[in-house]
Amino acid sequence: SIVVTGATGHLGRLIVESLLHRGVPADRIVALGRDVSRLADLEQRGVAVRSADYDDLDSLRAAFAGAEKLMFVSGSEVGRRTAQHHQVITAAREAAVGLVVYTSIARADTSSLILAAEHRATEQELVASGLPYVLLRNSWYLENYTGQLDTYLEHGVAGAAGDGRVAAATRADYAEAAAQVLTSEGHTGRVYELGGAPFTLTDLAAEVSHQSGRPVGYLDLPVEKYTELLVGAGLPEPYAAVLADADRGLAVGELSVEGDDLRTLLGREPTSLADAVRAALAARR
Ligand code: NDP
Repeated sequence: SIVVTGATGHLGRLIVESLLHRGVPADRIVALGRDVSRLADLEQRGVAVRSADYDDLDSLRAAFAGAEKLMFVSGSEVGRRTAQHHQVITAAREAAVGLVVYTSIARADTSSLILAAEHRATEQELVASGLPYVLLRNSWYLENYTGQLDTYLEHGVAGAAGDGRVAAATRADYAEAAAQVLTSEGHTGRVYELGGAPFTLTDLAAEVSHQSGRPVGYLDLPVEKYTELLVGAGLPEPYAAVLADADRGLAVGELSVEGDDLRTLLGREPTSLADAVRAALAARR
């Protein structure tokens, strides 16, 4: 079976959908989450559903039983993930999983982003574990931006990214690439740097302005000021600091991606910024 962690989240669910779309029989897919009631619709479609908590090794042991492949979606509890992911790798080793596909971050081996440290630690542990692995180093989600359209239209785009370019792609494209890796051969030991066509936050503002017909500019702020702005908008300080730090990294290219791994895995161009903005504007109407 193919076991997918984080199936209650955005990306994990899209990966399950992508596997089904590719014709993987539902009864060969196991969807994991902490609150399995949120997977009831998948269960109705024949997908096996098991509860798993990265903090609970026994739950992971039970959830990984019989797994040929493990789609390991990184956790979302920043600061706790190295320890949590250690448990996932421990359980995967005990279950002798045949392939572990891990969602990491762009340039995880060298990235200075605060967010990258836990991914780097997990990658290193996974590689050292002896388990067959694939690393999917995802850049930013386009949804990180298109999810803020209302704010952009009202206040403009703000950030601390300068002229840095971000190779953002949609979650659906990252999910499809993951499903491709899970359903075809020849990926073991590969490290994929995944992202779409790179753009600056000035480009982002211009695209939103162009398509909405409203003036939308990009206000570039020092990292501290941008952190303050995010806190003022209601984000908890540690989260605001991590996001502003990501913009600091974006400014120096940490979320840009060389090569065309995503296009190659998809067999087509990734969804563009323009198309993502178009879809998000249409969904607002
Ligand atoms: P979501 O927040 O939608 O989903 C995260 C998933 O991880 C959920 O299913 C969540 O389960 C699960 N999870 C978190 N902690 C645990 C735990 N302790 N035990 C078991 N499951 C856990 O994120 P996305 O799907 O959008 O993104 C997937 C991952 O990608 C994120 O978790 C994060 O690591 C990373 N990410 C990447 C971004 C990018 O721009 N590239 C942006 C944001 C995150 P539950 O439903 O129970 O909480």
